[in-house]
Amino acid sequence: MKPIGILGGTFDPIHYGHLRLAIESREALELAEVRLLPARVPNLRDNPATTPTHRLAMLELAVVGTGLVIDPRELYGTGVTYTVETLSMVRAEIGARPLCFILGQDAFNGLPRWHRWKDLLALAHLIVATRPGYQPPVTGELPGLLATCAVSSPRMLASRPAGSVLLQNIPQLPISATDLRARVAQHRNITGLTPAGVAAYIVRHQIYGERRESNS
Ligand code: ATP
Repeated sequence: MKPIGILGGTFDPIHYGHLRLAIESREALELAEVRLLPARVPNLRDNPATTPTHRLAMLELAVVGTGLVIDPRELYGTGVTYTVETLSMVRAEIGARPLCFILGQDAFNGLPRWHRWKDLLALAHLIVATRPGYQPPVTGELPGLLATCAVSSPRMLASRPAGSVLLQNIPQLPISATDLRARVAQHRNITGLTPAGVAAYIVRHQIYGERRESNS
């Protein structure tokens, strides 16, 4: 059975780096679908610069025509959301179907700070996409995880529901939400960094203006 993919993030705002990561992962791993899972309040970073409602609206604009799916369940909760709890819910819904949690290299390098991070492997495979400027970890607990769980081919993901780590070479765009927000705050043009509908939404609702950005 083809695996389901999940790309978690703050998506503050969604940009082409996220969209390409999701689409390239779907193709490279032959995933049945990729779900974008926006976090309400991330545990390990500053609060999002804008509201769940705006972030969800921008996601909806961004996925038009892509076939990507949005899973908004964390946005409806209260307080901090933990990926391990969300993946437990998804696992209960999909039975033994393989589940691939997709992360950029930067997110993977911070994995040992995540709540119950070792339990993630019981729920999903981890797909680690390389990202410009970030190197694989050489110290701490992640080299040991890779030594135990790394697999070399996407084909090996379909044979069991969870438990493998795949370092996947996925072309990455040098775009970050931090940079995008800074450009908006400086009244610079963001054409080409995020879909036109998202860029227009940011302008229309005047989000990521200077005052908010200076707080983030
Ligand atoms: P910020 O700059 O606010 O930290 P971000 O651009 O990194 O945001 P997130 O929502 O934090 O976006 O990222 C969600 C996921 O997408 C993470 O796993 C991250 O590694 C990945 N990601 C973000 N930008 C890119 C990119 N340009 N190429 C590949 N992966 C990316």
